Amino acid sequence: MPRPIINTDDCSACGICADACPEGVIEIADDIAVAINDESCTACSACMEECPMGAISQIEED
Ligand code: SF4
Ligand code: SF4
Repeated sequence: MPRPIINTDDCSACGICADACPEGVIEIADDIAVAINDESCTACSACMEECPMGAISQIEED
């Protein structure tokens, strides 16, 4: 199942990835982006492409 890998050291909690995700996978919680719904991730890469901080390094398949 794919899921976004979020580097919390680089995340500014801007919320752009959460807004960009068509599946509602990502939320901002405690000033950090968290994949709360990763069973819905389709590996579309929109979150990774839109993150201005480069904090989403990859979409991991496991
Ligand atoms: S890869 Fe696509 S579906 Fe998965 S979390 Fe990112 S924007 Fe959402
Ligand atoms: S777009 Fe990047 S910097 Fe902004 S909340 Fe998401 S992971 Fe963090």
